[in-house]
Amino acid sequence: MAILKVARIGHPVVRRPAQPVSPEALRTPAFQRLIDDMRQTMYEYDGVGLAAPQIHESLRLAVLQVPVSDERTKGGVPFSVLVNPVVTPLGPETLDAWEGCLSVPDLRGLVPRFARVRLEALDREGQPYTLEAEGFHARVIQHECDHLDGSVYLDRMRDLRSLTFLKEFEDHVAHGHEDE
Ligand SMILES: [Zn+2]
Repeated sequence: MAILKVARIGHPVVRRPAQPVSPEALRTPAFQRLIDDMRQTMYEYDGVGLAAPQIHESLRLAVLQVPVSDERTKGGVPFSVLVNPVVTPLGPETLDAWEGCLSVPDLRGLVPRFARVRLEALDREGQPYTLEAEGFHARVIQHECDHLDGSVYLDRMRDLRSLTFLKEFEDHVAHGHEDE
């Protein structure tokens, strides 16, 4: 496995809408290796999610995992692969919380997200699955799926005045928030 280079904002791939993954591509060893490399890269940089455009692959693919120890979820979220995901809000309620992003290094911002969503996607074997997520899990899903449309959390912020450097965030706001 390999640690992949992360694309930062300013690189066009971060802003390009990603291409759907074909069933044929999904079954190739190269695609399976890409998923394993993305997993390794997410762990390396202490992220809770990573979308393919963030590692210079313009594909509708993302991975996520929230550690059991993360207090923003009850019991964490197991490693998940999202291929060609579709996210549907379940109700109008939104929640504001802090987000970071490996493609926007060293910054945190307050972002509104739908409190509950339905996710429909394919897993790494190409099997369709549907789940309903809430709170931080729903937030990570929305953050990663935004990347597939060329959006980053900055685009979703209602007020850029909450934008905070990581050091100042740790000094003045909170501890233990990871990048997505
Ligand atoms: Zn991100």
